[in-house]
Amino acid sequence: DPQLNSNYTFENYIEGDCNRLARSAGYAVAAKPGGTSFNPLMIYGGVGLGKTHLAQAIGNEIKRNMPDKLVIYVSCEKFCQQFVDSLKNNTINDFVNFYQAMDVIIMDDVHNFAGKEKTQDIFFHIFNHLHQSGKQVILSSDKAPKDLAGLEERLLSRFKWGLSADLQVPDLETRIAILRKKMYADGIELPEEVVEYVAHNIDNNVRELEGAMVSLLAQSTLNKKDIDLALAKQMLKNFIKNTSKEISMEYIQKLVCEYFEVPADMVKSQTRKREIVQARQISMYLSKSHTKSSLKTIGAFFGGRDHSTVIYACQTVEDLIDTDKKFKGYVHDIQKKLKMG
Ligand code: ADP
Ligand code: MG
Repeated sequence: DPQLNSNYTFENYIEGDCNRLARSAGYAVAAKPGGTSFNPLMIYGGVGLGKTHLAQAIGNEIKRNMPDKLVIYVSCEKFCQQFVDSLKNNTINDFVNFYQAMDVIIMDDVHNFAGKEKTQDIFFHIFNHLHQSGKQVILSSDKAPKDLAGLEERLLSRFKWGLSADLQVPDLETRIAILRKKMYADGIELPEEVVEYVAHNIDNNVRELEGAMVSLLAQSTLNKKDIDLALAKQMLKNFIKNTSKEISMEYIQKLVCEYFEVPADMVKSQTRKREIVQARQISMYLSKSHTKSSLKTIGAFFGGRDHSTVIYACQTVEDLIDTDKKFKGYVHDIQKKLKMG
């Protein structure tokens, strides 16, 4: 099918918490188009989070297992344009018949129906025809049906019939997995720290994440293996705004507490709980070594303590780094994250 892009498959659609429901619902629909309660299946989420990829993967999977099925992928925009053209050319019947003959219709970015009442009317009829004949409808949108503005109520109510599943921003691990997959597909390997740097810093959009990687490779006239962290930072200046961001005590506090999974405000409290004390002492130690703050300022920041407490904390951390391998690993991990930010 010329409308489907065969590069978008389930195999290269990395699974994570961000997309688990949508992905598995998509998989179920692909196995039994029209035969699940997920009809329509509505995939929604922000720009560059994988809506088109997932919607196309469903279409490709259906074509792979059931080559006789008529599957059409169309962007909402293109559908609107085709409708206008068919009005002009007096071919409106052909237009409607074409879509009503499909077994599966995948319509991307239905938020673009906003304000286009006549096109919505036509789609409403096509939708009803397909749905009543047990055909599968797959939709994508930048918002949940209940938040879509400018769409007719009766069409929206249809969109809510089946399942709406959202795509979220992938977490760090998933972002790293996406980059690895991309490198693997391109037959290129970059150093682990470069991959982590990119994944750490581009954290809101998969398309940009991939774009950064592509740019890194394209800009490189060197042997790919020679891209080190410093060079990557240099090359990605346009992608990552705050590469030389000054490290603050707030940031250290945030990273340390995230790392040990303790509430961030606890390190400033008076509690003597072991894991909190440890997080507090490491935060002080890192503040001393990575910021220009004085011992007095550091003590005051971490819960109104005096400078001797900070000295004691730094001494304790240094001793533990020397004697406790596991502890040394913790501090090392956090330092690495600090430098990434
Ligand atoms: P959207 O349609 O939501 O704007 P796209 O489907 O175009 O987003 O995705 C943007 C890019 O990110 C595409 O190249 C796509 O292959 C990739 N992508 C998104 N999510 C994933 C994922 N979970 N695994 C692998 N690649 C992904
Ligand atoms: Mg898209």
